[in-house]
Amino acid sequence: MKTLNLLSVEQIPETLPRTQALAGPDSAADILIVGAGPTGLACAIEAQKAGFKTLIIDKGCLVNSIYHYPTNMVFFTTPELLEIGDIPFTTSLAKPTRLEALEYYRRVAGHFHLNIHQYEWVKTITGEDGDFRVSTSDRHDAIHDYRARKIVVATGYYDLANELDVPGEDLDKVFHYYRDPHPYYDMDVVVIGGKNSAAEAALDLWRHGARVTLVHRGPQMHAHVKYWVRPDIENRIKAGEIAAYFNSAAQEINADCVVLRTPSGPLRLKNDFVFALTGYHPDYDFLRSVGIELATEQMRPVCDPANLESSVPGIYVAGVIVAGSRTNEIFIENGRFHGKLIAAHLSEKLGGGNPNFPLDAT
Ligand SMILES: Cc1cc2nc3c(=O)[nH]c(=O)nc-3n(C[C@H](O)[C@H](O)[C@H](O)COP(=O)(O)OP(=O)(O)OC[C@H]3O[C@@H](n4cnc5c(N)ncnc54)[C@H](O)[C@@H]3O)c2cc1C
Repeated sequence: MKTLNLLSVEQIPETLPRTQALAGPDSAADILIVGAGPTGLACAIEAQKAGFKTLIIDKGCLVNSIYHYPTNMVFFTTPELLEIGDIPFTTSLAKPTRLEALEYYRRVAGHFHLNIHQYEWVKTITGEDGDFRVSTSDRHDAIHDYRARKIVVATGYYDLANELDVPGEDLDKVFHYYRDPHPYYDMDVVVIGGKNSAAEAALDLWRHGARVTLVHRGPQMHAHVKYWVRPDIENRIKAGEIAAYFNSAAQEINADCVVLRTPSGPLRLKNDFVFALTGYHPDYDFLRSVGIELATEQMRPVCDPANLESSVPGIYVAGVIVAGSRTNEIFIENGRFHGKLIAAHLSEKLGGGNPNFPLDAT
């Protein structure tokens, strides 16, 4: 399975060797936030405004998911709806580009002097409300230990791709993430999926000289495809510029071909590369490892909708993970407000920040 992660969940040990653990002056916080996505940043800003000492830890860079989106992507959301911390986001055109969003979130992080530890992977969260222990592993496999009174988990969904579960999916030519079109010039490329990511990748690849076949299990492109992308992809398909098979699926992927299951029977297509853009899902194993209960239906973390405290007292969930497998219900536009809800509850519970918390009691 190819994901953005460097390690698979199976490699996460139950407990990390204590002897290797590093504890710096920075190792205690009132509120420790896992994930420096837009939601994690918003949570830190609001908690900081309420007087709490905050620490954000991300296994990648700042807004790691957005950094890994397609290089030339344009958001469907207008800039003011991506704003956090009441910092204005202005862009040159109506919709922000990925690069503009990266710059905006860097500016916001700098403006609020957010304490962010990048390239540290949160592996375990133990302890209890008021005294949690968090262990991370950095790029050099060094282990770091932290203490926090409360935890916010804002780990997003973009690290784990929904798999096709077909033979050949593990071949090097199969990708679950699309970045840019150049390497696929004059190549036979299959794009699997019927939503925005698939439509945009198919168009971008075709416009840069790839021979593209789109394969989707539904009868047509999904209704949620951006209003300006939908006619574009439909017209390219109508004109035969992009081949498309609807009500179809990949059955098998081989080094030089893909076998499709179509309404008129199996079809073998000559093929160089496959983009399986069939969505992503939150890291349910990580959430369970923290003790958070997941509802059987849609794997939503059980939480109080008024304040987002999970089934584990003192651990909050925020951002897209709140929607479980329904990842299209919460995005930056609405997830950015989770910070305010959580900060209000933190103030109620803790009565303000406690600058004396640092690790002197270890
Ligand atoms: C191509 C694309 C275009 C989109 N366009 C829009 C749009 O126009 N408008 C909109 O509102 N939404 C859009 N979305 C959706 C939106 O980007 C996500 O819903 C949003 O990023 C979710 O924010 P988040 O903070 O919850 O999660 P994320 O942004 O995914 O942040 C989660 C962070 O947690 C980190 N992390 C995960 N596990 C760990 C761990 N164990 N330890 C440490 N760190 C960890 C990750 O590295 C990541 O940085 C788009 C999504 C995609 C894929």
